[in-house]
Amino acid sequence: MKIELTGNPFVDTGLGVIATLAGLDKIDELTYDHLVKVHGHGQRIAYWNSLFKSTSMIFTINSLITHPSKKQKKKKIEIYSAMTTAFLNNIGNETIHERCEACGNERSLDLDVVARKTLVPLGEKDNFRAVGRDWFPLAGSLGSDAQALPSASRSPNICAKCLFAVHYLPLGTMLLDGRLVVFQSTSQQFWYGLVQSIVNEVQKRISAGVVETLGSKEGSVAAIRRVMAYLHDMRDDLPLGASLFVWKFTNSGTSPDCKIEEVPNSALMFLWKSVRNGLKDELEKMIVKDRNPRYSLLNSISTGHDYSRLYPFRKERGASPKLYYIYQTEVRKISPRSLKTAYNIAKYAEAKLEKKQFTTIQKDIISDKTAQNSVRRLMIQMVEENLLTFDDYVELFQTANSANGVLINWNSWKLIQYYLHHTSDFYSSESQPASDKRRSEVSRIATLILLEYVQKKGLERFRNDVLDQMRHNKITVYWLRRQFLLLAERYEGFTYRDWRKLCMLNDGREFVDELLFQMRLLWTEWICSGTLPDINNAVTLVYADTDEYIKSDNDLSDSVRGLLKLIFEDYIKKRGLEKFAVNVLQELRKNNKGLHWFRRQLSQIDPKFTDDEFWESFLVGVNGDSFRTGRLFQLHLEMANLYRRKSFKQQLQISSK
Ligand SMILES: [Zn+2]
Repeated sequence: MKIELTGNPFVDTGLGVIATLAGLDKIDELTYDHLVKVHGHGQRIAYWNSLFKSTSMIFTINSLITHPSKKQKKKKIEIYSAMTTAFLNNIGNETIHERCEACGNERSLDLDVVARKTLVPLGEKDNFRAVGRDWFPLAGSLGSDAQALPSASRSPNICAKCLFAVHYLPLGTMLLDGRLVVFQSTSQQFWYGLVQSIVNEVQKRISAGVVETLGSKEGSVAAIRRVMAYLHDMRDDLPLGASLFVWKFTNSGTSPDCKIEEVPNSALMFLWKSVRNGLKDELEKMIVKDRNPRYSLLNSISTGHDYSRLYPFRKERGASPKLYYIYQTEVRKISPRSLKTAYNIAKYAEAKLEKKQFTTIQKDIISDKTAQNSVRRLMIQMVEENLLTFDDYVELFQTANSANGVLINWNSWKLIQYYLHHTSDFYSSESQPASDKRRSEVSRIATLILLEYVQKKGLERFRNDVLDQMRHNKITVYWLRRQFLLLAERYEGFTYRDWRKLCMLNDGREFVDELLFQMRLLWTEWICSGTLPDINNAVTLVYADTDEYIKSDNDLSDSVRGLLKLIFEDYIKKRGLEKFAVNVLQELRKNNKGLHWFRRQLSQIDPKFTDDEFWESFLVGVNGDSFRTGRLFQLHLEMANLYRRKSFKQQLQISSK
């Protein structure tokens, strides 16, 4: 009869132990005969379990083998082996017609009947017995048994196989932070190998007379050490997609409980690659210093977070470049290309900066704006020298998403910081893929601004008026607004909504530094390489404008926008579109027209705009600050967009005639 795994981690680990003791290579070769062969008359497991400290953590101190009565050890072993053998003999012969709550077997064992039949002839009392935590780990417990309804109102139904298998748990478990651990995995092969490695280790310890539970005194690093040791000895590759579940439980005392933690595939992959690359010792040295489980290596790799011991701290230099590389690529999914970019920047900084300044940057780059700005200046230089591209930058700082302002991932500075301390060599296991030219909204805007400028004033003026001024921080949000207003007359994607997406943070503050820096990188790259971008790639929008727009209270209301449309339609009906471009839009750009003009126009259709109090409140933002320039920008931008749509329609009509 074939013995199948059950899905219950306690039972399955017990079965895994038995299969290991039977010398099976594969768990699915396990049969009833193997159980019989391994168990014999139950004397051996009874003897082992009487020694192990973990036995009472699994079966409480009330079980046949752990009960602290005056009974002689020999007697305990006799009744315990008789009882476990009775379980074995009853597999398939259960009499209760209820499903096993651990494995789903159709029938369950009548523990009371079997125990009386087995134990009374051996001189035990003729008491009633039911399945409790002394027979099966965590049976009917949640806090205390009495709280766990309905399990507390009756004992759970368990079949003979499950009741039997758990007695082999002490050989397949280990200690982690004061709890016992069993494993489950999405890969049976991987899981069974891990159980085998634990059983072999425990057996080695038995022969050396060690009965302490595996992992005791190792704290929170026991499990990961075990897994590493297993990966080290594993003959095969890590099965594709395998992940691991760590069940941490205790069944002893009055507070049994259980926690499950997942070690995802990425984490296992990291451990496997590290161990395979000869980094086991380095990792071991790191993890022995883990005190707080929350920041431990195990938790960091399980949650995909960075691990602080990889970084230089005081006199320690942090991880080796190899380990660092594997960690970042496997656990944090940072691309090899980003790591290479971070390394290149660090290396460049080392070559260009004075020793003293370099040391300051090494120390301060994570948190100090001045240090970061020094590195930013170096990045511009690198672009000028063709050592860095805009795409490298975007990938390193993961700036793709511009749902609320163009922001960067600040954690990326950490990558640069690491390499500032490790400039001597770069480890990489794969070649960096060629850049896939990603077209972002930033590059679209940069293209349009540059080409419009060059068309009107020439490239040299752009160098002087824009790039040089950027060097001196003279290009500001007002400059960018002017570009927006100008481009809105001719291209899509320059509405106030777009402005908010690119230039405003969630809290409504304007933030354009990063957007300007990225455009500066792009312009430098294009101009230094001598190839300006193609305007045709920038005419159409690159993003799908489907994401939900959350209105801000500072936005123009629909009614005001309706009024603006009326004003616009009225104007072009009387004077035509060309006059509007010259007399309104151009005058607004030159500041010859402004808020007063808008007020006069609005008042003519809606008298409430003549009211001074109403008008003043129209020019105040939600937070109570003056919103005069912001409001004028919105009104002007709205007009520019109305104009663009109208002139586009006219062009269509002309071309269709
Ligand atoms: Zn069962």
